[in-house]
Amino acid sequence: MASVSVEDLCVVAENEGVRVCYTNELPTQAVWDCEQRIIWLRTGQREREEVANLAHELGHAILGHEHRQDPWAEACADEVAALLLIGESEYAEAERLYGCHSAAIADALELPVWVVEARRKTFGRFAA
Ligand SMILES: [Zn+2]
Repeated sequence: MASVSVEDLCVVAENEGVRVCYTNELPTQAVWDCEQRIIWLRTGQREREEVANLAHELGHAILGHEHRQDPWAEACADEVAALLLIGESEYAEAERLYGCHSAAIADALELPVWVVEARRKTFGRFAA
């Protein structure tokens, strides 16, 4: 079960001076509006997608990113998301159970695979 909820991340957002708003009029699942300091989330996402997308946009907010992002900025936001969503011991336990199978770890943690892969990068620990 995912240990971090959308509500938990909303507390992080509030501490960063960021509002989290919902709309059904987004071209993507989530957007960081740096001028208004609002994270927009598309309504109707699966919970595991919503929590991961919110964490990614929070990564942009925490890192002070503005406007269109390059691949490096996206990767950095992914890594912040992974740190927000997966605790070290939680990750170690999942890896003990499932080895290097990102999809199995993602299922166990109820998160998208990209979060697990970003988390692995933060440890500099790559699957053999
Ligand atoms: Zn992004």
